[in-house]
Amino acid sequence: MSEHLDNDEILIEEDLEAEALENISQRTWKIAIVDDDEDVHRATEFSLLDVKILGRRLEFIHTYSKAETHQRFAVESNIAVVLLDVVMETEHAGLELVCFIRDELKWRDTRIILRTGQPGYAPEEEAIRDYDINDYKTKNELTRKKLLTSLTAAIRSYDQLRTIEASRRGLHQIIASSSAFTMQDGIEGFASGVITQIAALCGVPSEGLLCAQCDGDVQFDNSMKYSVIASAGQYQNLMNRSIDEIDNAVIRDSLRRALTERASLFEENNMTLFFSGRGKRAIAAFIELPYALSEVDLQLLEVFCFNLGVCLDNLGLVSQLKSYAFRDQLLLLPNRLRFIEQVDQILSNGVSDQWVCLIDIDDFAEINDVLGHRYGDLLLRSVANRLQNALGSKAFLARVGGDVFGLVGGSSSLQPEVLQKLFVDPFVIDDTVHAVSMSMGLVALDSQSQSGADVLKDASIALKRTKGLQRGSHTLFTREMGVEIRERALMMQHLHKAFDAERLYLMYQPQINLNTRKVIGFEALLRWRTDDGEMIPPTDFIPLAEHSGLIMSLGAWVLRSACFAMVQLLEREHDLTRMAVNVSAIQFRQPEFVGLVQTALRDSGLAPHYLELEITESVTVNGAASFEDALVKLKELGVQIAIDDFGTGYSSLSYLDKLPVDRLKIDKAFVAQIDSAGGPRIAELVIQLGKKLNLSVIAEGIETQHHWDVLRHIHCDEGQGFFIAHPMLENAIDNWLKNWKT
Ligand code: C2E
Ligand code: MG
Ligand code: MG
Repeated sequence: MSEHLDNDEILIEEDLEAEALENISQRTWKIAIVDDDEDVHRATEFSLLDVKILGRRLEFIHTYSKAETHQRFAVESNIAVVLLDVVMETEHAGLELVCFIRDELKWRDTRIILRTGQPGYAPEEEAIRDYDINDYKTKNELTRKKLLTSLTAAIRSYDQLRTIEASRRGLHQIIASSSAFTMQDGIEGFASGVITQIAALCGVPSEGLLCAQCDGDVQFDNSMKYSVIASAGQYQNLMNRSIDEIDNAVIRDSLRRALTERASLFEENNMTLFFSGRGKRAIAAFIELPYALSEVDLQLLEVFCFNLGVCLDNLGLVSQLKSYAFRDQLLLLPNRLRFIEQVDQILSNGVSDQWVCLIDIDDFAEINDVLGHRYGDLLLRSVANRLQNALGSKAFLARVGGDVFGLVGGSSSLQPEVLQKLFVDPFVIDDTVHAVSMSMGLVALDSQSQSGADVLKDASIALKRTKGLQRGSHTLFTREMGVEIRERALMMQHLHKAFDAERLYLMYQPQINLNTRKVIGFEALLRWRTDDGEMIPPTDFIPLAEHSGLIMSLGAWVLRSACFAMVQLLEREHDLTRMAVNVSAIQFRQPEFVGLVQTALRDSGLAPHYLELEITESVTVNGAASFEDALVKLKELGVQIAIDDFGTGYSSLSYLDKLPVDRLKIDKAFVAQIDSAGGPRIAELVIQLGKKLNLSVIAEGIETQHHWDVLRHIHCDEGQGFFIAHPMLENAIDNWLKNWKT
C-alpha cells in the first residue's frame, strides 16, 4: 500500500520548514531601533548589552530613516519591539512608520515604543490608542533602568500576543487537519498526515520524523509487532520495516516505550507522541526537537493527540467497514462488489482484449452437504490458491458468490482451455484426493459493455448455460443469450403480478380405475392466463417460479386451494378418495414444508389420507437426508406420496425401495410409446417394478381407447388422460361426475 502514498504527504512542505527554522532563530527577541541619531543607537545598544529578557537575549536591527525602515522591514519578520523616533527626516516620519507597520505590514503583535527629543512632539492621545502604541517616552527619560522596564513590559506583552495567536492558529490547524483525516483512506495516509500536522503545529523541521504502528496482532511470543508506516527525511528508507531495524537506539526505544506504555514521552531534544483509538491499534510518532517546546505547544499537542485518537477510531471503523464491504471474509479475497468495481474501472479506462470469467465448482452444494462445511471451506481455499498461484498478477481474482470465482484479465490468460488445465490435477484436502470439475461462463469486454454489474450478469447467464447444458465445460456469452434471459425476466415479473392479481387458477383432471371406470379423485393442475388471454403452460412458468422463490407462496396456495376444493367435493357427497397435488423439488426442500401441509389440512379440515403429493423423480435422485426426513414425516401424517413422471429420472432401485412412497406414475411419454413399434415395453417394466416394490401404479396421458386397453392388459390399475377428461374448472366437476358412466 505504501508505494501508492503521495510523497507530498510524507515530506513536509518547504514553507513549513522555513517557518520552523525561523522559529529556531527566534530564540532571541528582535528589537528594532529606528532613529536618525547615531548616538541614540549606540547608547541604547550599550545600555542593553548582555541583557536577557524572559530568558532570551536581544538582537538589534538598526535603521536611520523612514525610507530605510520601509526597505528593511519589508524583509524582516518577528520583530518584538520597535523603539521609534518620532521626528526623523520629517516631523511625521515616525507616526507614518507606525501606520506602515500596523496597516501595511499588518504586524499587530509587534510592540512600538515612541521616543522623542522634545515633549512638544508627543503624538495625540488618539494616535497612541488607534495605532496600539505601547509606550511613549522622551529620550532623556530612557535611562538604562527605565528602558529595561519599558522593554520588558513590551516584550512580555508581545510574547503573550504571539502565544494567543499561535494557539489560535494551532487550534485552527487541528480542526482543519481532523477533517482532512476523515478523508484519508488508509492508516499510512493517516500516519503521514500526522507527521505533516505535527510539523506545522510545532514548527519543527521534517528531519527526524517517524511514525510507527502496532497493528494489534499479538505475536507468538506474546509481544507486539511494530513497524514504520510513515517517515520523512533521513528515515524514509525505513518504510514498512520493523522498528527493530532502526539503528538509532534513542528512536527505537522511544517508539517501543510509547507503544508499550501507551503514553506520549517528552524529552529535552525529542518527543514521542502516542495516539490510540479504543481498539488495540495505536500509532506513535517520534519527533526530534531543536528546542524545548513552549507551554502552548504542549497544550496544543495534547488537544491534537486526543483529537487524532478519535480520528484513528473513525479510521479503524471506516477501514473495517470497507474491508467488510469489499472483502470476502472467508477467503480474504475481493468480493462481488469489489469485482464489479474493478470491471467498471477497466471499462472506464477503455478495454483492449479483456475477458471476464466466472468459475463455478460443480456439485459444490453436495460436497458441502455430504462432506461438511469445513471441508467445503478448505476446497474453496484450495481452488482460490490454485487460481492465484497460476494467474498471479495476470488476472484480478475475486469470490463473487458461494462457490463462484470471478476473474478479469487479458484474454490470453483467461482462455477456457488454459483455465480448465488448472483443474486437471485433483486437490488434496485432509489427506484425501478430491477431483473437481469446473463450469465456466465467459464474457469478452468490448466498448458496448455498459457496466461491471451488467458484465457480471452476462457472465452469469453464460455460466448458467454451461451448468444447464454441459457441466465441466464453458460458454462464451453472446448478445442473443442476453435477449432470451431478459424475456424470461419479464415473464417473471408478469408471473408475480399474476399471482398477486389472482390470475393463476387450478384445473382438476380426474383419475379413474381403468378396470371399473370408477373415479378415484383428481389431480390439481395450475393454470396461468395472462391479461391478453394467452395461456402460459406450467412447464414454462413453474421453473421460473422455482427460480425466483415465488414457488413457496404459490405452492402453498395450490396446496390449500386443492384441499379446500376436495373438502367441498366430499361435502357434496361425491365418493372420492384422492386429491393429487404437484410439489416441486424446491418446495420439498424448504424446512417448513411439512408444517405447510399440516396447516393446509388443518385449515381445510381435510383428512390426510385424501391428499396425495406428487413429487418428480428428480427430487428423489438428488435426495439428501433432509428429503428422506420430510418424506417420513409426511407419511406419519398419513399423506400419500406418488412419484411423478416415473421412468424419466434415474432413481436407483435400492434407493426407491427405501423410500416410503405409495404410487408410481408412468410418464405420459411411455404411454404415447404404446403407439410406436416398441409398444408398451417401458410401461410394462414400470408396472412390474411397482408390483415388486409393492407400489400401485397410475398412468397419465391416456389419449385413446387403445392406450386404455393396452394399459389394462398389462395390469395398470389406474389412469388419467384427455381420453377420459381434460383438466376442468372446479365448478365443472359436479356436472362431469354426473355424466361419467361407470
Ligand atoms: P404432470 O404432473 O406430469 O401433469 C400432467 C400433465 O399432463 C398436465 O400438464 C396435464 O394437463 C397433461 N395431460 C393430462 N392428460 C394428458 C393427455 O392425455 N395427453 C397429454 N399430452 N397431456 C396430458 P400441465 O397441466 O401442462 O402440467 C405440466 C406439468 O406442470 C405437470 O406435470 C407438473 O409437473 C407441473 N405442474 C402443474 N401444476 C403444478 C403445480 O400446481 N405445482 C407444481 N409444482 N407443478 C405443477
Ligand atoms: Mg403430476
Ligand atoms: Mg407427470
